[in-house]
Amino acid sequence: MRLRNVKGSRDVIASNEYVIRDEQNMKGKWHELFGNDNPIHIEVGMGKGRFIMDMARLNPDINYVGIEKFSSVLVRAIEKQEIEKLPNLYFIRMEAEYIENVFEKGEVSYIYLNFSDPWPKDRHAKRRLTSVQFLERYEKILAKGGGVTFKTDNRQLFDFTVEQADEAGWNKESVTYDLHNSEYVEGNVMTEYEEKFSSMGNPIYRIVYSPK
Ligand code: SAM
Repeated sequence: MRLRNVKGSRDVIASNEYVIRDEQNMKGKWHELFGNDNPIHIEVGMGKGRFIMDMARLNPDINYVGIEKFSSVLVRAIEKQEIEKLPNLYFIRMEAEYIENVFEKGEVSYIYLNFSDPWPKDRHAKRRLTSVQFLERYEKILAKGGGVTFKTDNRQLFDFTVEQADEAGWNKESVTYDLHNSEYVEGNVMTEYEEKFSSMGNPIYRIVYSPK
């Protein structure tokens, strides 16, 4: 993602009602924030937030938390949420590596990873959001029966993801190499990157998987 320094984005994030700033104090208390016991779904690396906002609007009985590390991107999602004020959606600006400090064991019912950064150099493999290291973190916060959906147009990252799922011993519920021309397309909610890359003719790869 091309990043520009968006003027004032840090100030917006520092004071916005939809951004959780003391996220480590939220561990085990997310249901109190939402004021109900509905399941919590998160998107890690949500970018400008189109996907998670569409999901929150479509599924009012699910609570959503969007995680994004860059203020300059997160601020675009905040601008949209300021208009819509969806009651089942909050954001955190953080590095996802520390996700276990923010959610209690079993507190998250589902995780979405969309068009995650590829980190193409081998020495950076651990930073990929679908590496075994990240799967271990997700496993710690996922509720029983919970899982992960990952979409990308990057074949190398997708092949790596499938390998890592096997290495971690996760169940692969579905693996598709052309989501938009598959039986799984119905109900698919597009992300910003998905729209862009599929309109260029790139196939979209998707895996749905869960810890054993
Ligand atoms: N998910 C969006 C989509 O599909 O349109 C955005 C995709 S963009 C390529 C990846 C986003 O993930 C970027 O905004 C990046 O800052 C964020 N990101 C990557 N690694 C992250 C991490 N470790 N923690 C939090 N955010 C991360």
